[in-house]
Amino acid sequence: MSTGTVAEVRARAERLRADIRHFCANVMPATLRRKSERHQVLDKADYQQWMQLLHAQGWGVAHWPEAHGGAGWSALERFVFEDELARHGCPWVIPFGVKYVGPVIYTYGSEAQKQRFLPRIVSSQDFWAQGYSEPGAGSDLAALRTEAVRDGDHYRVSGQKVWTTYAQWADWLFCLVRTDRDGRPQDGISFLLIDMRSPGITVKPIATMDGYHHVNEVWLDDVRVPVANLVGKEGAGWTYAKFLLRNERTAGAMLGMVQHALARLKALPAPSAALRQRIGEFDLRGFALEACAYQAMEALLEGRENGAEASLIKLRGTELYQEIAESLVDALGPAGIAWDVEALHRADRPPLGPDDAGGIVKDHLYNRAATIFGGSSEVQRNILAKMVLGL
Ligand SMILES: Cc1cc2nc3c(=O)[nH]c(=O)nc-3n(C[C@H](O)[C@H](O)[C@H](O)COP(=O)(O)OP(=O)(O)OC[C@H]3O[C@@H](n4cnc5c(N)ncnc54)[C@H](O)[C@@H]3O)c2cc1C
Repeated sequence: MSTGTVAEVRARAERLRADIRHFCANVMPATLRRKSERHQVLDKADYQQWMQLLHAQGWGVAHWPEAHGGAGWSALERFVFEDELARHGCPWVIPFGVKYVGPVIYTYGSEAQKQRFLPRIVSSQDFWAQGYSEPGAGSDLAALRTEAVRDGDHYRVSGQKVWTTYAQWADWLFCLVRTDRDGRPQDGISFLLIDMRSPGITVKPIATMDGYHHVNEVWLDDVRVPVANLVGKEGAGWTYAKFLLRNERTAGAMLGMVQHALARLKALPAPSAALRQRIGEFDLRGFALEACAYQAMEALLEGRENGAEASLIKLRGTELYQEIAESLVDALGPAGIAWDVEALHRADRPPLGPDDAGGIVKDHLYNRAATIFGGSSEVQRNILAKMVLGL
């Protein structure tokens, strides 16, 4: 965490907010901005350009410690960064390298792994994917069965991962594997870094209802992975997996997405009385979410958080977001039905209906998943029941 009093951290965070506004208005390249405003689908090259652009601003890994090339951002700066970008409808900050596996490598990895992987994560040269979930191991992640058997200086890995976001683009997969079947399920898990070009890997797309290719099955058939690609100790992967998951549920992006969707809803012409009332309700819930997020940030800065705040914000934020998105589709009426998947994929093709109608329906359909990934709503409620209500 960066140094300074709480007041200094707050002042830095506000400066960052202003810098991001300036960046969105003046620095973002026109094509990326246009696609982003129309909520069109970004391809791998767009995302790499986006991540490299953030890196050029000094923001790509600013949340990392200075010793590893970051700026040692506080939790508040990190929150403001994600919140402000999402408020402007900016592309997703792809988390797999910079937010997920990078911190695992600099915290638990070997010197050789740090030297090999971190610079290419910082510069977004390598695209990473997350190989956690399997059929039968989602919420109950410790039930995972993909097996890694030691064979000299390699592991031989076989099994199946599922829902692997952007595996079709990935150069590397960070992957939870089972190296021991005895004892507690958590104790037999290891954390491997797998080159996606290895023989024996097959990526099969899963079609989602927004008509786009986000997620995949990843089949591993006797894939040879050097032991040098094991992070930390064999059998200690559960510790690293949980460390990573703590970075997954961050509140800033959720809050910004809610505010962005709400701004779009308010901007639609001639809302009915019923819609105006709904907007009022959403506004109140948005304020409550924001207040809750800032309280959580204050608690974190003062070292008195209880750990359940991220669950509360994920739960309330995703549910609110889904309701706003549904109202947006309702408000579009027939224009919402005139939805053109092709227009979302091609920058040169204007969407049917109002300028960004296609994006609204796509976002609505895709974000049905927001209450599933990153810990489902039911699982968040279990956490809250345990940590807040003591049940
Ligand atoms: C769009 C999308 C992208 C994803 N990307 C990735 C990725 O890149 N990498 C990756 O590894 N995974 C990814 N996932 C997987 C995601 O993490 C899992 O879907 C999630 O953990 C839920 O697991 P599951 O789908 O197996 O559902 P299950 O865990 O089988 O849950 C099924 C239902 O049971 C409920 N349930 C489960 N346990 C409990 C309980 N204890 N109490 C009450 N209710 C419970 C759940 O809430 C849910 O309603 C992605 C998922 C989606 C939808």
